[in-house]
Formats: sequence, C-alpha cells, structure tokens
Amino acid sequence: MAVEVQKGRAASVPRDARLAAGAALIDGEVVPIAEARIPITDTGFARSDLTYDVVAVWGGAFFRLDDHLARFERGCQRLRLDPGLDKQQIAAALADLVRRTGLRESYVDIICTRGVPAPGSRDPRTFRNRFYAYAIPYVWLLKWDERDTGMDAVIPQSVRRIPPASVDPTVKNFHWGDLTRGLYEAYDRGGRYPVLLDADGNITEGAGYNVFALVDGELLTPDAGALEGITRLTVMELARAHGIPVRETKIDEATFRRGSELFSSTTAGGVMAITSLDGQPIGDGTAGPVTRRLRDLYWEAHSDPRYSTPIDYGN
Ligand code: PLP
Repeated sequence: MAVEVQKGRAASVPRDARLAAGAALIDGEVVPIAEARIPITDTGFARSDLTYDVVAVWGGAFFRLDDHLARFERGCQRLRLDPGLDKQQIAAALADLVRRTGLRESYVDIICTRGVPAPGSRDPRTFRNRFYAYAIPYVWLLKWDERDTGMDAVIPQSVRRIPPASVDPTVKNFHWGDLTRGLYEAYDRGGRYPVLLDADGNITEGAGYNVFALVDGELLTPDAGALEGITRLTVMELARAHGIPVRETKIDEATFRRGSELFSSTTAGGVMAITSLDGQPIGDGTAGPVTRRLRDLYWEAHSDPRYSTPIDYGN
C-alpha cells in the first residue's frame, strides 16, 4: 500500500503551474487557491448557513463521487438551498477543476451557501444561493507514516456534541464550535483527536471523522448523532462482504472504552487506527488486525470500478 501511495503522488503533473497548489471555482471562474475570495456578507461565512461535501480524488479518479453528490443534494434539500447546478453539472465542473490543477490525489470541497442578502433583508427565502468548489492536494487527518502508531484520542469532559434537534449532523455543516472546543481539550490533555459524547453520554463522532469500536468481536458505530460518512458506509460494506460483524447502535462511553480496537473513518485519510484513549493504550497500543484489514480493503476499493470515476486529464 505504501508503495501505491507514493506512486500516486509521483504521478501528479500540474497542467497549469498557477493552479498546482489547488484551485477554486467561484462565480464560474477558476482561480488559484491562494487568490480565492468570497463576499464578506455571504451568510455561509456570517451565519454558517450552508452545506458542503468533500470527495477525494485518488490515483486520478473520484472515489464514490455519486454518493458524495447524493449526500450534498440531500443536504441542500433539507436546508432549502439550491446550488443552481444538478449532479451531472457539478460532476463535470469538479472534473474540470481537478483536471486544471493536475492533481492525481486531491481533496475536493463543494459548498452551497445561502448567499448574500439584499440590503436590509433578513428573509432567507430571498437570498441568491451561491455555489463554490475547490480542489487542493489530498489531506491526511493522520499522516500515512503514523498509520500504525495511530491516533491519540480523548473523550472531552468540557463539551458535548450539539444536539441533532438543533443542528442536524447528517447534513454536513460548519457548526464546528463543539468540535473545535473538543480539539482544544484534546490538545490540553496531550492528545490530538477528540471523540465527543452526546447529551445522553453516547459516543457520536470526532472533528471530521466517524468512529468504530470492536467490542466482543463485533464492530459497532453510532446509529445517530453523527454524519453518515461515506467512508463509514464503505467500512460497513467491506466488513459485511468479508464476514466481519458490524452494527449501527448506541454506544455508551463504557462500551467504547471496552473496545479491543478503535478506529476512525473519513475521506481525509480513510480508516485510521485509534491507538490510545485518554492516554491509555488500546490493545497493544498499535493498529489492531481488524483495523489493518479494513484499512487495506478500503484502499484496495479505490481501484474498484464500481466506486471510481476517472478524470480525463487529457494527457
Ligand atoms: N463526521 C464529521 C463531523 C465530518 O466532518 C466528516 C468528514 O469531513 C466525517 C464524519 C466523515 O465523513 P466522510 O467519510 O464522508 O468523509
């Protein structure tokens, strides 16, 4: 796997040097990422009034693009946002954007904001919604070199995940106040990766990742209070296909702490072992066998044609 990762990286050939560090699509124009600007009155910025999605490009192909676009569309519908483009048009715009950067491994963000109010207006129905996208080099939440030493997780005591009745976590959002507080507490306590509880003391998710626990030989992941991650979905599909029992359920803190293996899942890094929790090692303190197996299967799935949408780079 390590070899493949490096092979993919070496193959990146920027098409336009100004876009090699990444590019953004704003108002129909493609600009270098460092020059990308949004209006300061956009309520996406001023009110976190938006939804977004992130899809990875790996080895020159989108991974599960249709699933990401479907989730983005559902999020827009729930928030009564209209990006002004349908899924095919977004897919074409993203392919063009990535092609122009030349990136073979990329983190591709698509955003629809409520937009800019008319002067003096507070009626969200009247705003013209705005669509943005950008592509930057692939982001690792945990560096590949650290894949076996893993993530040092912390269950924050000072903050709980915002209730789903207030902010629906299945609509991907920028309401990160609780997650950011969790990050600060994690760093204060010598870790880096918070895993937040909900108001009832059940495990939810972390700052950009879902979580799994292997408890009594069964893989558990929270059934509510978290984003329905596409990586999480992939993990569940792969586990089922390979005879690893997996279940979505409530996980209280004590059950999570009993996990013989813990891991996180996200587009930004895939399946990543959690090897310590609140300073205590999980198992022998390195990535366990089920985590490693699912991590390998996850990366192998990137060459499965059912999941990949190749980008035509024109070379
Ligand atoms: N949970 C949160 C809060 C996230 O922000 C993310 C991804 O950014 C995830 C979970 C993982 O979702 P996915 O696997 O679709 O990237």
